[in-house]
Amino acid sequence: MRIAFIGLGNMGAPMARNLIKAGHQLNLFDLNKTVLAELAELGGQISSSPRDAAQQSELVITMLPAAAHVRGVYLNEDGVLAGVKAGTPVVDCSTIDPQTARDVAAAAAKQGVDLADAPVSGGTGGAAAGTLTFMVGASDALFATLQPVLAQMGRNIVHCGDVGTGQIAKICNNLLLGISMIGVSEAMALGNALGIDIKVLAGIINSSTGRCWSSDTYNPWPGIIETAPASRGYTGGFGAELMLKDLGLATEAARQAHQPVILGAVAQQLYQAMSLRGEGGKDFSAIVEGYRKPE
Ligand code: NAD
Repeated sequence: MRIAFIGLGNMGAPMARNLIKAGHQLNLFDLNKTVLAELAELGGQISSSPRDAAQQSELVITMLPAAAHVRGVYLNEDGVLAGVKAGTPVVDCSTIDPQTARDVAAAAAKQGVDLADAPVSGGTGGAAAGTLTFMVGASDALFATLQPVLAQMGRNIVHCGDVGTGQIAKICNNLLLGISMIGVSEAMALGNALGIDIKVLAGIINSSTGRCWSSDTYNPWPGIIETAPASRGYTGGFGAELMLKDLGLATEAARQAHQPVILGAVAQQLYQAMSLRGEGGKDFSAIVEGYRKPE
């Protein structure tokens, strides 16, 4: 299949590589010429604009940093909607607010184009391994069309409902993750300060009612889970800056819905403070350092 792939950063580039490996012909566009050259060597075709990439494609995929980039790439004069043929399936995999996803989908629908949102979880490791989870907001027909292609980049392809619901699933999950990591950090730090062996405490939590992913798979205390970023200096995981972005999306969506997210707002401020201290590049589980005496 001829596929336009726009936005070839930390996530998009490995996703595009997996599609090339699966035998698709890719029309590539990004502002970064270096990554375009790398993917062209694998057989991808470089396009001159999102419009150019979309014009010649049977499917369009975008993977961009934030909502402003998505609006630009779709709605600008040389954007996707200026080139895409009516009836071509389109999917945006960026993490953005649900309203922007719905607005861009409404603009697409006016010209006979069905657009889905399909944000992912699984990080850069999952993108490279082709094991991402896609949370898809789409009509039944569009989901059925997209499913086999998304399955070449991911392991779990979940239909969440109509357009926008993929983003809703993603931001609600990450809201909970950001909060639960802080809860685990507080409990671990308190136990440590009160004098219990930290491994004993982790074992109790992980076989008791406090257990969650932040405690049993990604524990923020160094040395508890060997494979967690905490055990390698908080490198190579999910950056605090990205968590901050997702909490910002959640609190803004909550504001629009007149829905309180009290712990979410506090969590956002704690990651904001981490960012101010220049630690936004560390894995988000380094939030625990705010609860520990420096060694
Ligand atoms: P990134 O910043 O590494 O990549 C974004 C790419 O988009 C860059 O190559 C940039 O040059 C390109 N770009 C920006 N504006 C453009 C434009 N106008 N036209 C064409 N290309 C443009 O970001 P990423 O880490 O790949 O993340 C992409 C999305 O996936 C984000 O929404 C992020 O929140 C989400 N996400 C990231 C991770 C992660 O671990 N990195 C995990 C899950 C979801």
